[in-house]
Amino acid sequence: CGIFGIKPHPEAANMAYLGLYALQHRGQEAAGVVSESDGVLTCSKGQGLVSDVFTREKLQRLRGDSAIGHVRYSTAGSNRIENAQPILITCQHGQIAVAHNGNLVNAMEMRRKLEKIGSIFNTDSDSEVLLHLIAKSKQETLEDAIIEALNQVEGAYSCVFHTKDKLIAVRDPRGFRPLMLGTLGESTVFASETCAFDLLDAQFQRELEPGEMVVVNRRGMRRSMKPFEEKPIRQCIFEHIYFARPDGFMFGEHTQRYREQLGAKLAEENPLEADYVIPVPDSGVSAALGYARASGIPFAFGLIRNHYVGRTFIEPKQSIRHFGVKIKLNPVRHLFEGKRVVLVDDSLVRGTTSRKIVKMVRNCGATEVHMRISAPPTTHPCYYGIDTPTRGELIASSHSIDEIRKYIEADSLEYISIQGMLDCLNNSSPESYCKACFTGDYVIPFPHQAGASV
Ligand code: 5GP
Ligand code: SF4
Ligand code: MG
Repeated sequence: CGIFGIKPHPEAANMAYLGLYALQHRGQEAAGVVSESDGVLTCSKGQGLVSDVFTREKLQRLRGDSAIGHVRYSTAGSNRIENAQPILITCQHGQIAVAHNGNLVNAMEMRRKLEKIGSIFNTDSDSEVLLHLIAKSKQETLEDAIIEALNQVEGAYSCVFHTKDKLIAVRDPRGFRPLMLGTLGESTVFASETCAFDLLDAQFQRELEPGEMVVVNRRGMRRSMKPFEEKPIRQCIFEHIYFARPDGFMFGEHTQRYREQLGAKLAEENPLEADYVIPVPDSGVSAALGYARASGIPFAFGLIRNHYVGRTFIEPKQSIRHFGVKIKLNPVRHLFEGKRVVLVDDSLVRGTTSRKIVKMVRNCGATEVHMRISAPPTTHPCYYGIDTPTRGELIASSHSIDEIRKYIEADSLEYISIQGMLDCLNNSSPESYCKACFTGDYVIPFPHQAGASV
């Protein structure tokens, strides 16, 4: 998911809309904004893309000089409108809204406990647990209630909260998911990624530190604190590999540069002779560029992506072969005739897309098709906020690289090594990353696998 917050700004809701627009790649299922005017919070949200959910009229109704926003893709909880965020509630402490990116590992357990003592849940999202814990808190201030609630949950959270007068941003002590702090004149701005600041002409100041909480009060004054017990840092390396937009800066790294280095490393680790390096767009483009530069094999845009594919489309009754992939990608036929090609993609999850792409390229006359993946084999699901499928659906959890190669019908298949992936980091330490989906080394055990992000 993607989150955003701004305070104070005369056009807070419009800024939130634009910020979410820039963060759209982090979630396409639902979008929402909560704004605050004279101590009253108003929420507007819906399913679909940011530009579909909000009309001019809807944004005009979101008055005030302070706002938070969210774009959702479901990790925990199903794709229902009730699960859209921000979630806004009223409790003994007054109104409070939250937008959450990440996944609370003990959410199911906490929820069962809360339900036993009478809590009623409106959504099946893990984030609602947080609000219940806040509502129950006997702390005097909402700020302390939020800290108390966060101390009871385990897992990944980058959150922005809004109370009747404060904007509060917080990043969990392990720092799984990103959260950036920027300024726009006198306003403080928070966003999952720096590309949101670029669109608003806001200045990127710094990343929130893992375990840091920043409070912006009514007058726009900013305070920072570290209210949680310190834990080993575990930022998500898959943000760098796939999830984040390449035109940003995160966890101390320039995302596009990192991806190009992954591609170069991939070429170094397993040299190959071929006529073209072809990216699987869009996510494989930066790595393919790095691969081409390092190997000296010419880069070519051999697969063209249709960028206007919505989430729903009419599937023809009479079957068109490989419709699902063809609607998104189409090969530049003449490039492939009689050529040996290297396809570069950022990750291989189920293997179904790669299999179809390899077939498509062979049908255009390619004589050799080599697949290169700029991530190590994805052997384990993510429980910290990335929507990887269950273990059984991850092809690398139960198949060797050669078995996967046979399945996708490639002449060769190579992944970057875990060491290679870590060697490409320029400014950050390899220990400060979570790599559990590649290693199975989960820093937080997951008590209720069934309820976690599968
Ligand atoms: P596969 O060959 O495993 O079916 O698909 C691989 C493709 O899925 C890659 O191009 C990769 O960019 C993409 N991918 C990896 N992780 C995710 C994810 O979490 N969500 C979506 N929508 N695509 C992903
Ligand atoms: Fe990121 Fe993988 Fe860790 Fe999930 S398991 S937080 S995707 S590195
Ligand atoms: Mg992709």
